Amino acid sequence: MTHLECSVCSKNFEAGRIWNLCDCGGPLLVRYDLARLRTEWNRDSLVASANSMWRYAPALPVRNQKCIISLGEGMTPLLHARRTGARIGANDFLIKDEGLNPTGSFKARGLSCAISMCVELGVKVLAIPSAGNAASALSAYAAAAGLEAHIYMPADVPQANFIECKAYGAHVTLVDGLISDCGRIVGERCKATAGQPGAWFDISTLKEPYRIEGKKTMGYEVAEQLAWTLPDAILYPAGGGVGMIGMWKAFAEMEALGWIGSKRPKMIAVQSEGCQPIVRAFEEGTEYSRFWDGASTVAAGLRVPKPLGDRLTLQAVRESGGTAIAIPDRELMDAGIQLASEEGIFAAPEGAACVAAVERLIRSGFLKADDKIVAYNTGSGLKYLEAYSVRFPRTAAGEADKLGGLITPR
Ligand SMILES: *Cc1c(COP(=O)(O)O)cnc(C)c1O
Repeated sequence: MTHLECSVCSKNFEAGRIWNLCDCGGPLLVRYDLARLRTEWNRDSLVASANSMWRYAPALPVRNQKCIISLGEGMTPLLHARRTGARIGANDFLIKDEGLNPTGSFKARGLSCAISMCVELGVKVLAIPSAGNAASALSAYAAAAGLEAHIYMPADVPQANFIECKAYGAHVTLVDGLISDCGRIVGERCKATAGQPGAWFDISTLKEPYRIEGKKTMGYEVAEQLAWTLPDAILYPAGGGVGMIGMWKAFAEMEALGWIGSKRPKMIAVQSEGCQPIVRAFEEGTEYSRFWDGASTVAAGLRVPKPLGDRLTLQAVRESGGTAIAIPDRELMDAGIQLASEEGIFAAPEGAACVAAVERLIRSGFLKADDKIVAYNTGSGLKYLEAYSVRFPRTAAGEADKLGGLITPR
């Protein structure tokens, strides 16, 4: 790591210090001396590296390796979805299953990196607004690092997230509102304690520069797992869009390292019909998104009405020749259940939305039958039992014959 750079005005910031956003409000991105790294780091040496995302440590911001807080995040399986692929007409369809990460979602990657940087930079108290999984991951990594975590999440957050945070020992506040409301409250509390001992550090996605560095390892991994060729299309469930921005950054870094060529996948942002600011902005041809009123979807990670990373997400989608597509809740839940029964992969609704999107885009001709398509399942279905239980109600005694379920043993 050499420095940080504002993604909007290109102003530079010194490494080794605590930063949030640029003065202009733009998110900061970490920069590395890739020319030097290219001479020192060879992709073939990875076989001997950690079996986690920290195998890419030379392209991550932590300088003192003793500060790394790892629970085994990353190196998730890339699975061939053969039956689902055959049904929807995608002959080379793969699922990157991020549900196997610690705390059951890819959020573990971002927070492993960000918390490691907190340890390195001496940050002690963390605060986060979260739609769910980021809170779980922050709580787990803060516990592993021995740091204090303050969580603000919508009161209707999935039960798993609430219980995990409490079990990991975080301070949890439920907010009768959306993640945007939680973000505002965290911002105010951080400001109020700034400069004091025990000041709160805002670890909101993109408001601190290191979560995206962890998330970008999804891009390194897919390249390594496909023997250093990228697929034709990547479908990603975009809430904040940070995973997509991170992967796009990873591809540029790997090209600078001489690990891959200039070919890029079509980057496809998938949202839910009930909250689709990126899709609307893509269709309207605007640089930024507008706040999505009345955001509502079972895919909690996609309930982000005005993502801070909208501009960078839209850039990746457009530069790659990709697209943005919204799926209704009912259709993404159907796709999730079908995927589970066909492949043995129990996806989060967010990941299921990507499977539904592949089906639609094959039908529309945007994706071709022989394209190599990678869909990211960003979390485990086990974290969304309320959403799935609507489809699988337990039957009451007496209804067993009708619905097939409960029997009374004799
Ligand atoms: C947070 C989250 C998302 C959205 O991630 P971004 O990278 O911020 O777009 C998608 N799926 C799940 C399961 C999530 O927890």
